[in-house]
Amino acid sequence: MANSQFVTLLHYIATDVLFPSFCAYCGKLISNDDGVCKQCRNSINKIIKNYSGEYVFALEEKIHGKRKWFIDNGVWLFKYEEPVTKLVYAMKFKYNRSIARLFAQYCIDAINVQSWQFDYITYIPISNDRLWKRGFNQSEIMAKHIGNACNKDVVNLFCLKSEKAAQKKLSSNERFINTYQKFDIIQGNSNIVQKAVLIVDDVYTTGATINECARLLKANGVQHVYACIVAYAMLKEMTP
Ligand SMILES: [Zn+2]
Repeated sequence: MANSQFVTLLHYIATDVLFPSFCAYCGKLISNDDGVCKQCRNSINKIIKNYSGEYVFALEEKIHGKRKWFIDNGVWLFKYEEPVTKLVYAMKFKYNRSIARLFAQYCIDAINVQSWQFDYITYIPISNDRLWKRGFNQSEIMAKHIGNACNKDVVNLFCLKSEKAAQKKLSSNERFINTYQKFDIIQGNSNIVQKAVLIVDDVYTTGATINECARLLKANGVQHVYACIVAYAMLKEMTP
């Protein structure tokens, strides 16, 4: 047997026999490492929305009233509905890194059609407790794939303040309406003054978290903030 055939056989044994992959949506056995089968991939391709900031901000304000946005522009790839919901779950709670890479690829495709010029990529942090349980931050994984593809540095710019400390300072109403004071900027990781930063996140619900992170960036001298978000959890009363 030639060497190359032997390597192919070893690869087959390692990937398909010892560690077979299954589609994270339908469960079918797959021979690629995309995280989903071809059919599911095709159905995901059909539901890409790529909502713009202009669209999302206007829609949000229709429901919640006027808001102060610190994100200059963004792209929201999908509505938070099946099959995206199940895939986000697989990424976050079944530790499926292939799905993080799959979503990152959709982010890269969406970013490539924008005319944004950005210097750094960052991501929303998760608590140490969650990081310990999960082993990784899914938004960080996505950010790193995007950084590789766009040839930009991925920097960790935010940390979570201790929850007790943050809650002490806030009234319950403040806690409800926003996440003010939940995060801190990490000083010295990069010179972000007058720079443009892209924030990567998985699911947008109220928008409070990412808007607060954008506010912190602006307060620390960042000129432009862009956002790339995988799923938009629209309220039922919002139109498709
Ligand atoms: Zn499938």
